[in-house]
Amino acid sequence: MRKMVDFSFTEEQSLFRETVREWLAKNLPLERVRENDIKQRLPKDLIKGLGDLGLLCMTLPEEHGGAGADWVTTTIAAEELGYADISIALPVFFLVQASWGYVVDRYCTETVRDDVLRKAARGEAFIGIAATEPGGGSDVAGFQTTLKRGEGHWIVNGEKTYISGTEECLELGGGYFCVGYHDRSLGHRGMTAFYLPLKAQGVEVTKRFEDMGRMAISTGGFKMTDVVIPDEYQLGETGRGFYLTMEGFDDARLLVSASCIGAAQRALEIGIDYIKERRAFEQPLARFQGIQFELADMVARLEATRALIYKTAWILDEKYKGKIGALEASKWISMCKLLAPELAFDIFKRTMLWLGAYGYTKECPLEMGLRGVMSYCIGAEGAANIQRIVIARETLGREYTRTR
Ligand SMILES: Cc1cc2nc3c(=O)[nH]c(=O)nc-3n(C[C@H](O)[C@H](O)[C@H](O)COP(=O)(O)OP(=O)(O)OC[C@H]3O[C@@H](n4cnc5c(N)ncnc54)[C@H](O)[C@@H]3O)c2cc1C
Repeated sequence: MRKMVDFSFTEEQSLFRETVREWLAKNLPLERVRENDIKQRLPKDLIKGLGDLGLLCMTLPEEHGGAGADWVTTTIAAEELGYADISIALPVFFLVQASWGYVVDRYCTETVRDDVLRKAARGEAFIGIAATEPGGGSDVAGFQTTLKRGEGHWIVNGEKTYISGTEECLELGGGYFCVGYHDRSLGHRGMTAFYLPLKAQGVEVTKRFEDMGRMAISTGGFKMTDVVIPDEYQLGETGRGFYLTMEGFDDARLLVSASCIGAAQRALEIGIDYIKERRAFEQPLARFQGIQFELADMVARLEATRALIYKTAWILDEKYKGKIGALEASKWISMCKLLAPELAFDIFKRTMLWLGAYGYTKECPLEMGLRGVMSYCIGAEGAANIQRIVIARETLGREYTRTR
């Protein structure tokens, strides 16, 4: 008989979720999330703890320092991290490394693995993504960073901005997946990717932004002036940089979406506890149908988005097994990234309203979540309209792609 669709997680995946949730409940209660938000840093023991648990760079093969985890399991971790750290700071630290570390690992030399990836998996280095430039982030083919050929190396000039984790990267060591043009006349096929150690000579960290949220992880910018990148730091083939960037965005967007719904789930639970306790007009708020209808909408939208995200995680696993095309996978991933951050923002906003004046104070954790998930509505790992472009392109067909 034909197998029916099976929505259950494997025993290992369920056990993994429980282990991660328990560890986070013990080591990262909401009071500590608040403390990190105020101090604007992620404590070292948390990062080391994630490394010891095998969560850092968990997507990398075991022989490269990772856990060889599939994307469904990694999505579970991203969801649980969002549930624990609703400010989204620790999820960012986790997910950029699980996704961009994975892409770096797929296309790098053993030198890069030794220099950064194995260390990042132990929490002793940071690997992130430095794509966005002062001229804009959405239009990757419009980037201005250039690579000029030298003897056995590239010479890189350019500027990257709004980059997550610059302070952490300076402190721990490590660097970024980076991309620029080696030949502009070839259009997006003239882009090449490379690993940029943040402490390389000629790299100057110029800025730390005062963000609105996810305060415990930094966002910064840096200039690259005649930075020498040895050939062994090139990622993939010359001219494949654009495609590698798109691959990394896809992996990251899935995990972003999972962290957003994890945070939204926590917000909903905080809200539910409150409306059951809080009384108005001699009844708990939860008895009012006006409140119940809002709750029902949120539960339904959250479950629908969660189902989409886990289906998409399965699709990503199938893509890497060669069973589903990359562009088809991109469409599903963009659907997740389009829906999850906006839904999470909406759930934080609505639950804050349930909590009345208390919801507007910093005694209540919800405002941290509102500020955190907003970063993914704004566009970290790709703005909403870019997701719409991908979905429309893959639905209508390439002949409807707008030309430059
Ligand atoms: C907290 C935070 C952390 C970040 N971390 C990183 C990082 O680690 N690494 C990194 O490389 N970048 C990072 N970014 C940058 C992020 O990737 C960019 O913000 C994003 O790609 C959008 O680029 P932009 O901000 O330049 O906006 P723009 O590209 O200028 O776009 C502005 C607006 O125009 C819309 N738009 C653009 N093109 C179109 C179009 N064709 N049709 C319709 N609408 C369009 C967008 O949807 C957006 O709303 C981060 C951003 C934030 C907020």
